[in-house]
Amino acid sequence: MSRADLHTHSRVSDGTDTPEELIVAALSEGLDTIALTDHDTTEGLSRAANVARSRGVRLLPGVELSARDEWVSVHILGYLFDPQDQELSDKMREIRESRRTRAESIVERINVDYELLWDEVVAQSAEGATIGRPHIADALIARGYARDRGDAFEGILHWRSGYVRPHYAPSPVEAVRLIRAAGGVPVLAHPGTRDAERVIPPEKLEQLVEAGLFGLEIDHPENNPDAQARLRVLAQEFSLATTGSSDYHGTGKSNRLGECTTSDDVVDEIIRQASGAEPVE
Ligand code: AMP
Ligand code: FE
Ligand code: FE
Ligand code: ZN
Repeated sequence: MSRADLHTHSRVSDGTDTPEELIVAALSEGLDTIALTDHDTTEGLSRAANVARSRGVRLLPGVELSARDEWVSVHILGYLFDPQDQELSDKMREIRESRRTRAESIVERINVDYELLWDEVVAQSAEGATIGRPHIADALIARGYARDRGDAFEGILHWRSGYVRPHYAPSPVEAVRLIRAAGGVPVLAHPGTRDAERVIPPEKLEQLVEAGLFGLEIDHPENNPDAQARLRVLAQEFSLATTGSSDYHGTGKSNRLGECTTSDDVVDEIIRQASGAEPVE
């Protein structure tokens, strides 16, 4: 039995490891397969691939695409799509640009009550990185306004505090469609972080399945057990695969690399269905 962790982040989005460090961490964690799934960017993939090739770790190039259904943020993981696909790359660029202007406007709002400048957020993010609230959190920590990212998300960056605004994101159906159209395999990320009653309703899941959804990320550190049970029933009903992954963000979150994993047969099926890219080995 080999071990595969299919959801991780690097400094190219809101993780704290470089793509190179992430592969080295995967090796010392005893993982055989890792997917790098930075938010809305493929920028770290070639760097991760170089190290994966030389160290003998199998890398599935991936992404975590931001989507939004009304006011609910939904994340769609995509594996082995064509990184050159025009429609998908244009969409990712559009989301990244909106994330940046949204972050600037959040900082402006915060700055009314707590002195904070945009440059301080830039200083917390790698050049070209997909900007998110975690980078604003790091700037708040540097100022002493929060102890850690979790504390910042409980306080100033909580939507109830009134500073946070949404960024542009396509609908979940559109996100699934874009990944399939680019030859990739789409999985609904952490679908059980709220109560079982608030798990995606069957009629919405059906739309995602029709658009090409492959699976549900049921084993995830932040999914709650009741929601997971409900999701297993839905996976059966819609013949969806189930994956397990850590959503590792380095020191930015308590999720440990390899704490949830995906079975070999599901990994094999992802590779079999994909036509946009090959695993790196
Ligand atoms: P954003 O993409 O700007 O909406 O910010 C959401 C990101 O923040 C997610 O990708 C999570 O990785 C991260 N995040 C959310 N809640 C927390 C938390 N409590 N502690 C650390 N990171 C978090
Ligand atoms: Fe994140
Ligand atoms: Fe996510
Ligand atoms: Zn993630």
